[in-house]
Amino acid sequence: SAPACGFAAKPRAAEQGPALLEAVGASTSVPLANGTWATYANLDLAASAPALRAVADRVNTTLQWYASVHRGAGYLSQVSTSLYEAARLSLGAFVGARPDDEVLITRNTTDSINLLARSVPGRILVLDIEHHANLLPWQAAAGGATVLNALPTQAATIAALEDELAVGDYALLAVTGASNVTGEILPLAQVAEIAHSHGARLFVDAAQLAPHRPIDIAATGVDYVALSGHKLYAPYGAGALIGRIDWLDDAEPYLRGGGAVTNVTTRGAEWQRGVARHEAGSPNVIGAVALATAAETLQAVGFAALQAHEAALVGRLHQGLATIPGVRVARIWEDSADRVAVVTFALAGLEPGFVAAYLSAEHGIGVRDGRFCAHPLLRKLGLDQGAVRASVGASTTGEHVERLIAAVRWLATGQP
Ligand code: PLP
Repeated sequence: SAPACGFAAKPRAAEQGPALLEAVGASTSVPLANGTWATYANLDLAASAPALRAVADRVNTTLQWYASVHRGAGYLSQVSTSLYEAARLSLGAFVGARPDDEVLITRNTTDSINLLARSVPGRILVLDIEHHANLLPWQAAAGGATVLNALPTQAATIAALEDELAVGDYALLAVTGASNVTGEILPLAQVAEIAHSHGARLFVDAAQLAPHRPIDIAATGVDYVALSGHKLYAPYGAGALIGRIDWLDDAEPYLRGGGAVTNVTTRGAEWQRGVARHEAGSPNVIGAVALATAAETLQAVGFAALQAHEAALVGRLHQGLATIPGVRVARIWEDSADRVAVVTFALAGLEPGFVAAYLSAEHGIGVRDGRFCAHPLLRKLGLDQGAVRASVGASTTGEHVERLIAAVRWLATGQP
């Protein structure tokens, strides 16, 4: 039977690197099946990343300056309103927004995409490798969606997108910034140029890209970007849709209610233009501040440092998994040049659910198993039964990665 946590986790000193940024709960212990406890190794950041200490501190401070937003005349209301509006500016800067882009505060990426999908004045083109959030809302949009098969190389896939854009009349191309299954990244500037040359705009689902790579929508020509706070080291509940406002100004309000109107009679309403049109109801000020603080904290530490930290961890993870017989790491394209720190793998002869449960119960490791809200992609990868996903980031230590490699090796081979 498998020994308990820590049996073979004797990484070399160089691989024992500390976290780059401190997250809340980094030293939380979790119970193991054998009755002992282990420090939690959170290798499931692609699902939700723990809040950074800086974010938690800012939330605590903000709670002391908390009052109604946009409607109150009191001093704290004015402060809360400024904090909320400052969060928008900060998020716009985080993604390199153009001066006339708008930042809509939403609940998460799913919410952002559902909102945009209601405003697209025409047909949408999307690949079959998407997270369901970047697929299902487009399929339900008024103009409908075409789902194109991604091909074995990125070059061929981009060429197929271009061919389809040339023959179809598309208003929008929607792509993922980084795959939530394989971490693979598309060359956004090239894709934007192709979309624009055929009269379409480009939407980028940056839920997985934003925590790992700098985004510059103005420089790359991306028209819209969506992201989620809980994947960016802020708590759940806030996300953003950032980009061009004209379609959104022409669309029906996403939510109907107070704040979205200029005048209401018993027969109907005149709707605001701009962000207020779609943000009816009391806004999530604390969530927006937390999200903006997370973005500011990543920018302050710098994406160069973050990428270096993650490259060391994910390089070691790939190298360790490659030495274990029966491990297959998934990838969509043979030629993708860059990947964020998301690694999906299958272990021959072992159910993903069993692997994930073993890692948790015996080693205190949190990973994700299943089909990752990307059923068409998992089918395409021949992983219909699901797989295991490990993801690392700013709060990951070298020990977390060593523990995972050692545990997977033990499970696959019975050897330390
Ligand atoms: N898009 C991608 C690529 C994702 O990985 C996820 C979440 O896993 C989503 C969209 C949906 O994000 P949320 O659940 O925050 O709406």
